Amino acid sequence: MLLDRFYNKYIIKGTLVAETPIHIGAGEESLDPIQTDNSVIKDVNGKPYIPGSSIKGALRSYLETLLLSGVDQRFKACLIVNDPCLGDEDEVEKIKRIYQEEKRDRDLDLIVAEEIYRNLCDVCRIFGNPYFASKLKVDDCMLKGDAHLSIRDGVGIDRDTGTAADGKKYDFEQVDAGAQFEFCMSVDNLEPEHEELLKLMVKVLESGQLRVGGKTSVGLGCIRLIDTRAYKIEPTNFRSYLMEGLKEEMRWQYV
Ligand SMILES: [Zn+2]
Repeated sequence: MLLDRFYNKYIIKGTLVAETPIHIGAGEESLDPIQTDNSVIKDVNGKPYIPGSSIKGALRSYLETLLLSGVDQRFKACLIVNDPCLGDEDEVEKIKRIYQEEKRDRDLDLIVAEEIYRNLCDVCRIFGNPYFASKLKVDDCMLKGDAHLSIRDGVGIDRDTGTAADGKKYDFEQVDAGAQFEFCMSVDNLEPEHEELLKLMVKVLESGQLRVGGKTSVGLGCIRLIDTRAYKIEPTNFRSYLMEGLKEEMRWQYV
């Protein structure tokens, strides 16, 4: 299913709880502690938040790792950076050329989009790749109520030996455990068989296994989804959703 017309929309809402402190750097999520901007990312009101892209990235790599381990043979994954299922522009150009030569009667863009989609692994079909827009979207997770921020002592890591380097101390800001954030994720035009993967993602979020931001190797960034509400909008109730918003009868049973 491409995104050229409406088939369905899944919406997952709830609250994210920081199970451990979170550090999502205001600069970027650099692995190098020396390079990291040491304050946490904040919204226009100065409150910390979790960028939707951080959650999406964590979900994607969780799913990639899981499916590449071969735990579920029905679904395929690729390594989007090192070994993508549809990688270089040559491949896309080849698809375009074949269709330009053979089928002039249909909308070429749509044909090429369909052909690209057919070549994608299951993870790229949901999360997108450079040639195909993502079906899954996570809103930035804004803070609910208040959060406590603290400055933490870090130990500098010697990059040559991987051990703590003498006297190299640096401080970083963290959002303390217990902070709560609004969560809203949506998926458009999900394939029926991919419902399984969406359910899995909700379960992973609820299990507290997912980690976001930096310094996850020292235990930071554990988040857990609570108060989950899942909805499924189809062509039959799409108009009602647009006019009146989400309602009880649109609930989706994800368990
Ligand atoms: Zn892929």
